[in-house]
Amino acid sequence: MKTIALVGNPNSGKTTVFNKLTGSSQRVGNWPGVTIDRKEGRIKGMDSATLVDLPGIYSLSPYSPEEIVSRDYLLKERPDYILNIVDGSNLERNLYLTLQLMEVGVPVVIALNMMDIAKAKGYDIDSKALGAALGCRVVETTAAKGEGMEEIKKVLSTLSKSELPKPVRFDDGVEKVLDSISAKLRPDVPEEQRRWAAVKVFEKDASSSEYTDEDFSSEIEEVEKAHDDQSEAIIIDQRYNAICGIVSNVLKQPTTGKRKTASDRIDDIVTSRIWGFPVFFGIMALVYSIAMLEGSPGWFATDWLNTYIGDEFIPMVADWLAEIGVEGMLYGLIVDGILSGVGAVLGFLPQMLVMFLLLVLLEEVGYMSRVAFVMDRIFRRFGLSGKSFIPLLVGTGCGVPGVMASRTIENDRDRRITAMTTTFMPCAAKLPIVALIAGAIFGGNPLVALGCYFGGILAVLISGVILKKFKRFAGEPTPFIMELPPYHTPSAVSVGMATLQRGWGFVKKAFTIVLLATVLIWFLSSYTWGLQEAEIIDDSILASIGNAICGIFAPIGFGKWELSVATITGLMAKEDLVGTLGTIVGIEIETAEGDLWAWLNTIVTPIGAVGLLAFNMLCAPCFAAIGAMHRELGGWKATAFAVGYQCVFAYVCSLILVQFGGLLIRTDINVAYLIMAIVSAVVLAYFIIVKDPLAIVRKVAGKEGAQ
Ligand code: GDP
Ligand code: MG
Repeated sequence: MKTIALVGNPNSGKTTVFNKLTGSSQRVGNWPGVTIDRKEGRIKGMDSATLVDLPGIYSLSPYSPEEIVSRDYLLKERPDYILNIVDGSNLERNLYLTLQLMEVGVPVVIALNMMDIAKAKGYDIDSKALGAALGCRVVETTAAKGEGMEEIKKVLSTLSKSELPKPVRFDDGVEKVLDSISAKLRPDVPEEQRRWAAVKVFEKDASSSEYTDEDFSSEIEEVEKAHDDQSEAIIIDQRYNAICGIVSNVLKQPTTGKRKTASDRIDDIVTSRIWGFPVFFGIMALVYSIAMLEGSPGWFATDWLNTYIGDEFIPMVADWLAEIGVEGMLYGLIVDGILSGVGAVLGFLPQMLVMFLLLVLLEEVGYMSRVAFVMDRIFRRFGLSGKSFIPLLVGTGCGVPGVMASRTIENDRDRRITAMTTTFMPCAAKLPIVALIAGAIFGGNPLVALGCYFGGILAVLISGVILKKFKRFAGEPTPFIMELPPYHTPSAVSVGMATLQRGWGFVKKAFTIVLLATVLIWFLSSYTWGLQEAEIIDDSILASIGNAICGIFAPIGFGKWELSVATITGLMAKEDLVGTLGTIVGIEIETAEGDLWAWLNTIVTPIGAVGLLAFNMLCAPCFAAIGAMHRELGGWKATAFAVGYQCVFAYVCSLILVQFGGLLIRTDINVAYLIMAIVSAVVLAYFIIVKDPLAIVRKVAGKEGAQ
């Protein structure tokens, strides 16, 4: 059994090659950080060869989690071969990693990918010369079209373990020290890894103590003095020199000056300082309009499905149940509980599918990486980097992978802030809430959804500013280097698959966690504490719980017991809020569930609906996402802090919106609530503006320095 590790820069086409070679359908992403965990598969048509798809990396230095994962795998688990995917349209950048792979001591095969783009750019790459320079075999591929895959298999099946590549030679001064290090490496360092080990010792890499017990600092210092540079920087510098030499030999670029491709011209606009953000805003507005605006395809399909479920499907099942003699409790459970609850959520499926489709398209085409680039400029002003935007994008699908994607951020503090705030974004599960409120209260205005999206981003930015003031989060954002991948025509299959996958996830949740919750909600709203059937819903257990807590929500506009319990059930899954309301309405009014929209208008004012929406967008996410936060933050204390922060932040924002909004449109004003809102606004502003907001607390506590 041979193992072959797939290594390459983000977006070089690793996952595409993986899928082509193994025949599987892993998600192909168009921004770095999609492949975080490693995936394995058998190579089709080659017996006993396993391919391991490692995360995309730019180098083997141990600075980011992906680099550590990949490096540990290559050095400790020692695959038999490395298949290095090199983006042929970006040789210079890609070869840096390749040069490091040459030292690992494992035979390397290079797949020179994206040959179609390289050719379109007018590049002429001499792959034979490249192979000769590196001492390994090179196969030209266009993975997206499946070209070159058979050759890769052929090369892999004829490769021998002794065919080791040629590591780059550094200058004489460095090589002399490397030789003397090599001579004194521990005997247990395997022969083929001695070059790697010597370089690590020279670079003073943290891992160097694994390789030797000797001290070479005086020899290294001498070289450092001669170059007037740190040893690690010397190595980096010489690697780049070597790359320049190789590239000038193997790559002929068109001499007709830098011809601007169509892609460059589009980028000039969509990443421009002035137009970048407005274009992004416009595109998102379009996305939400197509999905949600009254009369749009998404709205049309959802309206139809809602009407069908409410007016035809549920009455049909109800009649049928009555016919076969189901009545009483069981009838109530099925019709008022499950069907009304699950139906209320499922009714939004068409809108979800339209949304997913459009977002996946934007991602696949390559636009979202431009957005990360544009957002970097904005995020930087708030002390975060564009890298933090990628988890937010992932988080619009689901908060769980969103929080996990924060792993790709090298800077520990940025990573923690991002993991804490990613769930401010409207994930797929929150969309039914958005769609319900937008549809029922605001006539399907797409500004509602757009407000949630950009409000989420704003909440992250404000939180970045606030949280950076706490010592454990302080610090400058890391530089954000991201190559913009060329635009791709998305493949219908992968777009379709990704859309259906997300849609299927939505349906699955409706029939599992939402269904369970509706059963519970039905029970709680049909029975009294004495376990007697409740005459009216207001006598039920649920109503009494709701009435006990709804005072908390009164200042933020929705102090109704129904809305309060629905908000709480959102902790299980955000869709449960809609499911719960569906069930309550199913019981409360004896008619079909299509009346949920009308009913909602009777219990909440437009301004109250803003509060309901804002609070539910920003407060603690569902348990699954809290679990993910716990994994990323590494402890319950930090998680509790994060969840507490989210809830308080959500409450403060909703309070300000509702009370000041109420002031603007001159509804009934409650002076006590208004004072609360003013105090909250002042405190929020204090935390945003003042440099060290906790100083005052320390002074009061008299404990200088305690944080
Ligand atoms: P990874 O990040 O290295 O796993 O890269 P992916 O496999 O996710 O590919 C990134 C993007 O490049 C996807 O949109 C692919 O469809 C596209 N892609 C992969 N190989 C090629 C190729 O040879 N030519 C072109 N034009 N696009 C490719
Ligand atoms: Mg990938």
